[in-house]
Amino acid sequence: MTAAHRLADVQAGLDRACRDARRADRPLLVAISKTFDADAIRPLIAAGQRHFGENRVQEAQAKWPALMAETPGIVLHLVGQLQSNKAADAVALFDVIHSVDRPSLVTALAKAQAATGKRPACYLQVNIGDEDQKGGCAIADLPALLAQSREAGLNIVGLMCVPPANVEPAPYFALLAEHAKRLGLPGLSMGMSSDYETAALLGSTVVRVGSALFGSR
Ligand SMILES: *Cc1c(COP(=O)(O)O)cnc(C)c1O
Repeated sequence: MTAAHRLADVQAGLDRACRDARRADRPLLVAISKTFDADAIRPLIAAGQRHFGENRVQEAQAKWPALMAETPGIVLHLVGQLQSNKAADAVALFDVIHSVDRPSLVTALAKAQAATGKRPACYLQVNIGDEDQKGGCAIADLPALLAQSREAGLNIVGLMCVPPANVEPAPYFALLAEHAKRLGLPGLSMGMSSDYETAALLGSTVVRVGSALFGSR
């Protein structure tokens, strides 16, 4: 299957889910291109895809400046855990950051914003399954992290999660939606290759899809 076919397939799945949920809007599709090189990415750009995501700052720095020079209008998303010492590089390169999850990172991002004059849209990442070893803010700590982020001048647009692996994700998506609503945040970054339709049914505004578009990693 070509990249254009895969893209059409995923878009059709999102359309179906939105029809089923009687949604008028559709989630934004972010193509997660981590581990794939420029030659694998170009066919998707040619097929009209403009939003892309990476999970490592250094990998994105190596790949994207050249691709962005070729095609105006690319929007770059960071979906991976971000170390505070990479915050300046991240703010310089990315338009959207999906992984704000702790006070020290908020401080580093605020400093980077002041230095660069850039203000990326940010999502607070939530450890929705309360898993050890998983990135994301504990649910109980969300209100304080949101307050700190706003005070520091970050542009917080929503919540993001990666639900626990190998279990039904729907309850976790519903829970994330509930917390976003409670906090008055419109954005919901949830849904990956295996569950983007479920996420769309449950109100996702952004889905982050890698292998369904690029093949397995
Ligand atoms: C890799 C990754 C994705 C995409 O995963 P696929 O299963 O390949 O669709 C989405 N979100 C995050 C945070 C990721 O690291």
